[in-house]
Amino acid sequence: MGKILVTGGSGLLGTYLKKNLPKAIYISSKDYDLTSEKDVIKLFKNSKFDRVIHLAARVGGVHHNIQEPVKYFEENILMNTLLIKHSYKNNVKRFLGVLSSCIYPDKIKKYPIKENLLFSGEPHKSLFPYSYAKRSMALQIDSYNQKFKTKYNYIIPCNLYGEFDKFGEIQGHFVGALIDKILKAKKNKKKSIKLFGDGSPMRQFMHARDLAKVISIIIKKNMTESFNIATSENYSVKKIANIALQACEFENTKLIFDRSMPNGQLRKDIDIKKLKRLIPRFKPILLKDGIREIYLKKKEGI
Ligand code: NAP
Repeated sequence: MGKILVTGGSGLLGTYLKKNLPKAIYISSKDYDLTSEKDVIKLFKNSKFDRVIHLAARVGGVHHNIQEPVKYFEENILMNTLLIKHSYKNNVKRFLGVLSSCIYPDKIKKYPIKENLLFSGEPHKSLFPYSYAKRSMALQIDSYNQKFKTKYNYIIPCNLYGEFDKFGEIQGHFVGALIDKILKAKKNKKKSIKLFGDGSPMRQFMHARDLAKVISIIIKKNMTESFNIATSENYSVKKIANIALQACEFENTKLIFDRSMPNGQLRKDIDIKKLKRLIPRFKPILLKDGIREIYLKKKEGI
């Protein structure tokens, strides 16, 4: 496998990946600011790497994306561009980038969405800056492969959740924020919880520990394909909220939908035939079991 650099080592996914690839070097923004070319040059001057797994990104929920479009565009485009450019300059043999199912076209004729449709329409308006920055990474990787015959690749995962998620309402992702709301409602003996939108958008959520497992298989098997990664569970926001209420032993709680808040993309389920062909034995944890596991860990803290 050679010497591996993992960016974004302190994040949700990076924290799980440490268990799968313990010998890799994990960095965060405290070590290097990857939006600064000076820092990226210093990073590759300080050590030589055979592989880069690039997890670092500005990531967050729809509401934070709408509040901070410049950060979501600029930071992502800078980090990705600099990392790929300097990986190549420093003779990195394999580069793995991480995109997201959020960046696929907002509307498509046929679901689930296949990998070849990444550029076949506009992403959802609420995520333009993040999506175009991430799409550019795919384009940059494809361009390096075409021009320099590198074997760099990217994965396109669905939404994630996990114990190390951001749990706040604004910066957090949906499942993390949902568990947080349920825990707070339980603590304050509330009879309802409020959710943004009307509950109809469909979502796929994967435990970040499962994605970390897939990444370690990609590395260990030296795979160079680019492909979607998701579970086959694709549920409405309302159904996910009900699954979470049950998993957190809070079933009799009323769900209130704040229809004044945007829904975000209505559907973005991705096709996982390629994943199943490449890693046939991969079996992700069910959403109800993953949420239950996090609830049991978190409830000790309240
Ligand atoms: P995360 O928890 O938000 O972690 C982001 C990581 O990036 C942190 O380690 C952070 O370091 C680092 N980082 C941010 N800005 C940086 C900078 N300027 N310089 C250096 N490092 C910087 O993200 P995640 O949820 O683990 O996501 C990992 C990857 O998966 C991302 O590429 C994301 O786009 C992709 N993805 C995520 C989801 C999801 O639902 N979470 C879904 C699909 C794809 P600090 O801790 O020091 O800030």
